[in-house]
Amino acid sequence: MSKSRIAIFPGSFDPFTKGHYDIVMRSRLLFDKLIIGLGDNPDKERFFQLKLMQDKIGLIFKDFENVEVRVYNELTATFARSHQAQFLIRGLRNTTDFEYENTISQVNRHIYENLETIFMITSPQYAYISSSIVRELYSFGQSVDKFLPYNLD
Ligand code: ADP
Repeated sequence: MSKSRIAIFPGSFDPFTKGHYDIVMRSRLLFDKLIIGLGDNPDKERFFQLKLMQDKIGLIFKDFENVEVRVYNELTATFARSHQAQFLIRGLRNTTDFEYENTISQVNRHIYENLETIFMITSPQYAYISSSIVRELYSFGQSVDKFLPYNLD
Protein backbone atom coordinates (compact mmCIF):
# COMPACT_ATOMS: atom_id res chain seq x y z
CA MET A 1 0.00 0.00 0.00
CA SER A 2 1.36 3.44 -0.80
CA LYS A 3 2.11 5.81 2.04
CA SER A 4 -0.54 8.44 2.69
CA ARG A 5 0.38 11.94 1.64
CA ILE A 6 0.23 14.29 4.59
CA ALA A 7 0.75 18.03 4.34
CA ILE A 8 0.80 20.77 6.90
CA PHE A 9 -0.19 24.37 6.31
CA PRO A 10 1.39 26.33 9.16
CA GLY A 11 0.80 29.94 10.10
CA SER A 12 0.03 32.43 12.83
CA PHE A 13 -3.43 32.95 11.34
CA ASP A 14 -3.89 36.13 13.38
CA PRO A 15 -6.53 36.12 11.98
CA PHE A 16 -7.26 33.32 9.47
CA THR A 17 -8.39 35.11 6.28
CA LYS A 18 -10.08 34.30 2.98
CA GLY A 19 -6.57 34.13 1.49
CA HIS A 20 -5.70 31.29 3.89
CA TYR A 21 -9.07 29.65 3.25
CA ASP A 22 -8.40 29.63 -0.47
CA ILE A 23 -4.99 27.96 0.03
CA VAL A 24 -6.60 25.24 2.22
CA MET A 25 -9.43 24.59 -0.25
CA ARG A 26 -7.00 24.21 -3.13
CA SER A 27 -4.33 22.18 -1.37
CA ARG A 28 -6.70 19.77 0.39
CA LEU A 29 -7.40 18.26 -3.04
CA LEU A 30 -3.75 17.27 -3.44
CA PHE A 31 -3.22 15.33 -0.21
CA ASP A 32 -4.74 12.51 1.84
CA LYS A 33 -4.56 14.72 4.91
CA LEU A 34 -4.03 18.44 5.38
CA ILE A 35 -3.17 19.67 8.86
CA ILE A 36 -3.63 23.38 9.49
CA GLY A 37 -0.94 24.17 12.06
CA LEU A 38 -1.83 27.11 14.25
CA GLY A 39 1.47 28.36 15.61
CA ASP A 40 1.46 29.27 19.28
CA ASN A 41 4.52 31.42 19.82
CA PRO A 42 4.61 32.66 23.43
CA ASP A 43 7.12 35.41 22.47
CA LYS A 44 4.72 36.90 19.93
CA GLU A 45 1.69 38.63 21.35
CA ARG A 46 -1.45 37.78 19.40
CA PHE A 47 -4.22 40.17 18.45
CA PHE A 48 -6.92 37.52 18.01
CA GLN A 49 -7.03 34.82 20.70
CA LEU A 50 -5.56 31.48 19.72
CA LYS A 51 -8.56 29.57 21.05
CA LEU A 52 -10.95 31.76 19.06
CA MET A 53 -9.01 31.07 15.85
CA GLN A 54 -8.76 27.37 16.60
CA ASP A 55 -12.55 27.19 17.06
CA LYS A 56 -13.33 29.27 13.96
CA ILE A 57 -10.99 27.27 11.71
CA GLY A 58 -12.28 23.98 13.15
CA LEU A 59 -15.87 25.00 12.40
CA ILE A 60 -15.21 26.11 8.83
CA PHE A 61 -13.64 22.78 7.90
CA LYS A 62 -15.70 20.45 10.09
CA ASP A 63 -17.27 18.76 7.06
CA PHE A 64 -13.98 18.16 5.28
CA GLU A 65 -12.71 14.82 6.45
CA ASN A 66 -9.12 15.28 5.35
CA VAL A 67 -8.64 18.71 6.94
CA GLU A 68 -7.78 19.16 10.61
CA VAL A 69 -6.51 21.99 12.78
CA ARG A 70 -3.82 21.64 15.44
CA VAL A 71 -2.11 24.13 17.69
CA TYR A 72 1.67 23.71 17.99
CA ASN A 73 4.44 25.40 19.89
CA GLU A 74 7.64 24.02 18.47
CA LEU A 75 9.57 24.49 15.24
CA THR A 76 7.39 23.99 12.19
CA ALA A 77 9.79 21.36 10.83
CA THR A 78 9.69 19.25 14.00
CA PHE A 79 5.91 19.64 14.15
CA ALA A 80 5.73 18.34 10.57
CA ARG A 81 8.04 15.44 11.35
CA SER A 82 6.07 14.40 14.42
CA HIS A 83 2.93 14.17 12.26
CA GLN A 84 4.72 12.27 9.47
CA ALA A 85 3.96 15.15 7.11
CA GLN A 86 6.14 15.05 4.00
CA PHE A 87 4.84 18.34 2.61
CA LEU A 88 4.68 21.88 3.89
CA ILE A 89 2.29 24.30 2.18
CA ARG A 90 2.93 28.02 2.02
CA GLY A 91 1.15 30.74 0.08
CA LEU A 92 2.93 33.27 -2.10
CA ARG A 93 1.51 36.70 -2.83
CA ASN A 94 4.53 38.63 -4.05
CA THR A 95 8.33 38.76 -4.18
CA THR A 96 8.55 39.79 -0.52
CA ASP A 97 6.79 36.55 0.43
CA PHE A 98 9.14 34.68 -1.89
CA GLU A 99 12.35 36.06 -0.32
CA TYR A 100 11.14 35.17 3.15
CA GLU A 101 9.77 31.75 2.22
CA ASN A 102 12.86 30.77 0.28
CA THR A 103 15.05 31.18 3.36
CA ILE A 104 12.60 29.45 5.69
CA SER A 105 12.20 26.46 3.39
CA GLN A 106 15.99 25.95 3.21
CA VAL A 107 16.21 26.05 7.00
CA ASN A 108 13.27 23.68 7.39
CA ARG A 109 14.89 21.19 5.09
CA HIS A 110 18.06 21.43 7.12
CA ILE A 111 16.09 20.31 10.18
CA TYR A 112 13.91 17.74 8.41
CA GLU A 113 15.42 16.74 5.10
CA ASN A 114 12.41 14.86 3.74
CA LEU A 115 10.18 17.90 4.02
CA GLU A 116 9.16 19.28 0.64
CA THR A 117 7.81 22.83 0.65
CA ILE A 118 5.04 23.42 -1.87
CA PHE A 119 4.16 26.98 -2.80
CA MET A 120 0.68 27.92 -3.85
CA ILE A 121 0.31 31.18 -5.72
CA THR A 122 -2.42 33.38 -4.28
CA SER A 123 -5.70 33.68 -6.16
CA PRO A 124 -5.78 37.22 -7.61
CA GLN A 125 -8.97 38.21 -5.78
CA TYR A 126 -7.22 37.54 -2.44
CA ALA A 127 -3.74 38.74 -3.29
CA TYR A 128 -4.09 41.95 -1.29
CA ILE A 129 -5.45 40.32 1.86
CA SER A 130 -3.08 39.97 4.79
CA SER A 131 -3.65 39.29 8.48
CA SER A 132 -1.80 42.49 9.37
CA ILE A 133 -4.11 44.65 7.23
CA VAL A 134 -7.14 42.97 8.81
CA ARG A 135 -5.75 43.67 12.30
CA GLU A 136 -5.13 47.29 11.42
CA LEU A 137 -8.62 47.86 10.01
CA TYR A 138 -10.24 46.04 12.89
CA SER A 139 -8.34 47.99 15.51
CA PHE A 140 -9.68 51.23 13.96
CA GLY A 141 -13.25 49.95 14.14
CA GLN A 142 -13.70 49.05 10.45
CA SER A 143 -15.70 46.00 9.45
CA VAL A 144 -13.43 43.18 8.31
CA ASP A 145 -16.17 40.66 7.47
CA LYS A 146 -15.43 40.61 3.79
CA PHE A 147 -11.83 39.49 4.41
CA LEU A 148 -12.76 36.57 6.66
CA PRO A 149 -14.48 33.24 5.88
CA TYR A 150 -16.49 33.42 9.18
CA ASN A 151 -18.08 36.04 11.42
CA LEU A 152 -16.04 37.39 14.29
CA ASP A 153 -19.02 37.78 16.61
P1 ADP B 1 3.22 33.35 9.22
O1 ADP B 1 3.14 34.16 10.48
O2 ADP B 1 3.77 31.97 9.44
O3 ADP B 1 3.84 34.04 8.04
P2 ADP B 1 0.51 33.83 8.23
O4 ADP B 1 -0.65 33.42 9.06
O5 ADP B 1 0.76 35.28 8.06
O6 ADP B 1 1.74 33.04 8.86
O7 ADP B 1 0.42 33.17 6.78
C1 ADP B 1 0.44 31.77 6.60
C2 ADP B 1 0.69 31.47 5.13
O8 ADP B 1 -0.38 31.96 4.34
C3 ADP B 1 1.97 32.11 4.58
O9 ADP B 1 2.57 31.21 3.68
C4 ADP B 1 1.44 33.32 3.82
O10 ADP B 1 2.30 33.70 2.76
C5 ADP B 1 0.13 32.76 3.29
N1 ADP B 1 -0.85 33.81 2.97
C6 ADP B 1 -1.27 34.82 3.77
N2 ADP B 1 -2.20 35.58 3.14
C7 ADP B 1 -2.36 35.03 1.91
C8 ADP B 1 -3.16 35.36 0.76
N3 ADP B 1 -3.97 36.42 0.76
N4 ADP B 1 -3.05 34.58 -0.34
C9 ADP B 1 -2.21 33.52 -0.32
N5 ADP B 1 -1.43 33.14 0.69
C10 ADP B 1 -1.50 33.89 1.81
